[in-house]
Amino acid sequence: MKLDPEQIKKLAQQTLDAKPAHVSCSDWIHRVGEFVEARLRGDELSTERLRSVWQHAKDCPPCMDELEALERLLDAEG
Ligand SMILES: [Zn+2]
Repeated sequence: MKLDPEQIKKLAQQTLDAKPAHVSCSDWIHRVGEFVEARLRGDELSTERLRSVWQHAKDCPPCMDELEALERLLDAEG
């Protein structure tokens, strides 16, 4: 079977999507936005959602900086 570049790209994408913890930085920012909003409303967040936020930050220093800054802000909000 011969794969054209488009199919290879699709396969690569599926492989990436298969890892539940893998999110791109731009997806991650969306999740963090939800995370922050929920925190501000005092909502409970699912462990799965929290885990995916922290999982990405753990492997991505710029996002970890972002998350730590947000955590500090949220703590300051009280
Ligand atoms: Zn990132």
